[in-house]
Amino acid sequence: TAMLTIRDLHAEIEDKPILRGVSLTVPAGEVHAIMGPNGSGKSTLSYVLSGRDDYAVTGGEVLFDGRDLLAMEPEERAVAGLFLAFQAPVELPGVGNANFLRTALNAQRRARGEAEIDAVRFLKLAREAARRLAMPEDMLKRNVNVGFSGGEKKRNEMLQMVLLQPRFAILDETDSGLDIDALKIVADGVNGLRAPGFSALVITHHQRLLELIVPDRVHVLVRGQIVRSGGPDLARELEVSGYGAVIREAAA
Ligand code: ADP
Ligand code: MG
Ligand code: MG
Repeated sequence: TAMLTIRDLHAEIEDKPILRGVSLTVPAGEVHAIMGPNGSGKSTLSYVLSGRDDYAVTGGEVLFDGRDLLAMEPEERAVAGLFLAFQAPVELPGVGNANFLRTALNAQRRARGEAEIDAVRFLKLAREAARRLAMPEDMLKRNVNVGFSGGEKKRNEMLQMVLLQPRFAILDETDSGLDIDALKIVADGVNGLRAPGFSALVITHHQRLLELIVPDRVHVLVRGQIVRSGGPDLARELEVSGYGAVIREAAA
């Protein structure tokens, strides 16, 4: 069954068309990658799916679990199980990381009518998750992202993802500064959640990330349209040949 269905999605920013008819289905349990040259609309797609209001959707539809995603507020999307990894994690001086994470988790649980998780039980869950992500435990006590290195922020983002247990994660790994360690952290986060009821859309320039995650499908976005889809081999092919051939094919 389809977890996410995007049909002929058009979106623009400041009257400039960016997405020009994107169609894509991510079945439950699958991880799909979106690759594509700079400026092709990859981040725009993730922002539209997360509900950022500076992007105007001008056509098409998105169904999440059969629900009209675009009609939902960003908070409702999160409650429904959508997780968006932030590109620039916010720093929150004076706010302890564990408390912040527990507050976020319990807000979602309350909204779903689920029981809240108390501090003791949460700390146990958070420690387990931190261990799995090879994250030093003291990062749970520190202020949210304050003074965290790039790798620590990445780990923290994955910790947040693992604890929130989304049904669908969208990761936009645009950071050119991601080193191999950071890519491993992201891969561990995604691979650790892999399950029949979990899907993800991983947006990346990095073939190496896809070596670690091994997506079920790879889609190439060029000038706001998916011009090719394939298996993991497509990422390897693009690593070798670049986007030139795909762009020329699409233009032809
Ligand atoms: P990608 O993530 O694939 O590099 P983006 O979605 O970031 O691409 O950008 C797609 C296009 O939209 C680019 O041409 C970019 O310049 C344009 N764009 C993105 N954000 C804005 C904005 N805030 N204002 C105007 N144009 C934008
Ligand atoms: Mg870009
Ligand atoms: Mg981008």
